[in-house]
Amino acid sequence: MTQRSITVIPGDGIGPSIVEAAIRILDAAGCNFHYDYADAGLMALEKHGELLPQRTLDLIANNKIALKGPLTTPIAGGFTSINVSLRKHFNLYANLRPVVSFEGTKSRFDNVDIITIRENTEGMYSGAGQTRASDNNSAEAMSIVTREGAERITEFAYQLAVKEGRKKVTIVHKANILKSTSGLFLEVAREVALRYPQIETNEMIVDAVCMNLVMYPERFDIIVTTNLFGDIISDLCAGLIGGLGMAPGANIGKEVAIFEAVHGSAPDIAGQNIANPCSVILAAIQMLEHLGQQDKGMQDKAELIRSAMRKTIKDGTTVTRDLGGNASTTEFTQAIIANL
Ligand code: NAD
Repeated sequence: MTQRSITVIPGDGIGPSIVEAAIRILDAAGCNFHYDYADAGLMALEKHGELLPQRTLDLIANNKIALKGPLTTPIAGGFTSINVSLRKHFNLYANLRPVVSFEGTKSRFDNVDIITIRENTEGMYSGAGQTRASDNNSAEAMSIVTREGAERITEFAYQLAVKEGRKKVTIVHKANILKSTSGLFLEVAREVALRYPQIETNEMIVDAVCMNLVMYPERFDIIVTTNLFGDIISDLCAGLIGGLGMAPGANIGKEVAIFEAVHGSAPDIAGQNIANPCSVILAAIQMLEHLGQQDKGMQDKAELIRSAMRKTIKDGTTVTRDLGGNASTTEFTQAIIANL
């Protein structure tokens, strides 16, 4: 069998350690990938003098699949997010962020199973019209919603619902106030919903969604929404299942897909070997499931790794601090490998 090549971007902060953990597990599970390592973000700036080298873009374009660690973005100024640049460059319009409860995690709920589908290239993150007045007394940014963008992301959500046998799609908006942008998104999403009468459709304003999610997460199945709301809601959802260490995300386009953690580079715990690697391991599982659409063997590997993770977390003796244990990243990874 030909060996499949995956582009690997270790990333910043805790990135390299948790990406390495995921690679060790993929190897131990017998996935037989070839890895093309590439730099992006601060690491790339230090090594190559640029944040997103052409070689990195070429490797992602050639391999079509990348596993990526988090990248640091300076707050209120500095360079534009490399994550956003990658999503726009490869037109990765769908950000698929599932959260599923794992027995043994310290969380308020034990039966959460929600997928947030976040529009990934438009909305407030389009980068258009960002200006700050020279007197520093006012600032502007533009939010962009297109019919095409809204249609393809809601189509993606409903198709996923059909494929995965899900029952309900909740369209999340703020069309009562943001009548033009959120209004268009809602209008187009309603049109798409009509094509899927077998799936229950629910509409909810984003603020009400936040309250309902923390009180009744069982009322949600698939959520589809614009870029900024999806970003915030998916972190909220991570909080329902034990924190950001358990939340993966897939950035999917027509050609290329990049798999990563929902969380960032966690500078507060970087270099201490205490980060929970599960977010990137779950992203690697998403990657295997994506490849599994053409290759059933990959689907089996995904199941193998997921059940080893479940067993290790349920057992609870060798898990990281955020999951209530005191194991290092390396020890936790080793324990998952032992359970494969
Ligand atoms: P963060 O997500 O990095 O961290 C938030 C909190 O969660 C921190 O207390 C951190 O220690 C904890 N945490 C995150 N991942 C963890 C893990 N795997 N195990 C245990 N604890 C974990 O958010 P932040 O500190 O606001 O952002 C840091 C940087 O990351 C910023 O530059 C931001 O722009 C960037 N960021 C990148 C991405 C990405 O690359 N996709 C996503 C979000 C933020």
